[in-house]
Amino acid sequence: MKKLTFKGGVYPPEGKELARDIPFRDCPPGDELIYPLSQHIGKPAKPVVAKGDRVLAGQRIAEADGFVSAHIFCSVSGRVKALENRPDVFGINVPCIVVENDGLYEKAEGVGVPADCTALTPQEILAKIRDAGIIGAGGAGFPTHVKLAPKNPDAVEFLMANGAECEPYITCDDQLMRTKADEIVAGMELMLRLLPNAQGIIVIEENKPEAIAAVSAACAGKERVRVQVVATKYPQGGERSIISALTGRYLKPGMLPADVGCIVENVGTVRNIYRAVCFNEPVTERTFTVSGDGVKSPCNLIVKTGTPFVKALEAAGGFADGDAPEKLLCGGPMMGISMPGLSAGICKNNNALTVLRRDAVAAAQEKQTACIRCGRCSQVCPLGLVPQMMADAAKKHDYARYEKKLYGLDCIACGCCTFVCPAKRPLMQTFKQTKAEIMAIKRKEAAK
Ligand code: SF4
Ligand code: SF4
Repeated sequence: MKKLTFKGGVYPPEGKELARDIPFRDCPPGDELIYPLSQHIGKPAKPVVAKGDRVLAGQRIAEADGFVSAHIFCSVSGRVKALENRPDVFGINVPCIVVENDGLYEKAEGVGVPADCTALTPQEILAKIRDAGIIGAGGAGFPTHVKLAPKNPDAVEFLMANGAECEPYITCDDQLMRTKADEIVAGMELMLRLLPNAQGIIVIEENKPEAIAAVSAACAGKERVRVQVVATKYPQGGERSIISALTGRYLKPGMLPADVGCIVENVGTVRNIYRAVCFNEPVTERTFTVSGDGVKSPCNLIVKTGTPFVKALEAAGGFADGDAPEKLLCGGPMMGISMPGLSAGICKNNNALTVLRRDAVAAAQEKQTACIRCGRCSQVCPLGLVPQMMADAAKKHDYARYEKKLYGLDCIACGCCTFVCPAKRPLMQTFKQTKAEIMAIKRKEAAK
């Protein structure tokens, strides 16, 4: 099979050998589950339960507030302990529903009951996806019913299931593809019923031979779904990288994948669609990797949403012996969020906890020097941006140039530029901060 790739990118140490062959096991969720109301791009969900209410696994506890929003479901049975602010992965207090787990795991009526999905119309399939609270499981958290309802469904040529999983250390998508290939392919076939002219492609990096074999076997005899192996390169799993690798099409600033005839969904999302449409299962659990050199027993877990991160760490045996780790990351080392603690609840779009003994970013910053204009950052940027100029504009707070001339808001914070910079400049971190500042200004202006 031909291996495709995109322009730019880097080859960070993979670290996947730590957990890649560890089969899923259930993560005990503990006594208290925490559900932030904002687990997705769009408006936060609105609580539909009150303190003291008895709740069941699979019961809706917060409902979507508008089209670009998503329902939230309880993952255990128990009682609503509080509606209050709790720290999220950034350590910022955000509105949450807190549920006391009664340990019975009693399900809400109808959850997990097989449904005949053969005669469903596209609208009925979309409604089931929305009703199940499905969002992008790969990280971004975009509500899936929105993504699957482009202006012109007939114009979508490629539906891609993203199984690239390019972020170092993370291996839960690899395990999912090895063990649930049939469900991923069935999910693709359901989605293709919404997109009559699209071909379905399951995209997997070449460093996952077992997943490639399993998914290829599941695709055998399918007319509209096939596997495409892509080269192992970071960030191959980025939406734009995948589209560029498979079609040669380039998304100009402000464009959406559907504008170039593509829709990309993570393989976990695709499987969630199958479970929701054919088994009435809302999103109450997710696949999750705990890894890094600071973890005793790196592993892949099935985690109930709302489970505190610390419980996932405990399921992985706790911290490795020796020094206390310097870095806790929600996600992987390239795009992950540095966490101040582990009390936050795991959301629908959190796929990993990475624990590192050493904070490589902090260590690099100690050696930071001035830019030497080597141009390496531009060569590796998968979006074709010019990071050294963006950094200059950010330093001068020249937001107009940053946004309009340098397209800095398109930065996906992949970290490739930081990774290669010989001057050890914290480029990606600067861009994240600058984006947050610009968005805050925009919000303030919109509120006037
Ligand atoms: S962090 Fe942003 S600027 Fe740097 S390489 Fe990635 S997309 Fe380009
Ligand atoms: S890689 Fe670093 S030193 Fe080289 S041009 Fe970019 S910012 Fe400057």
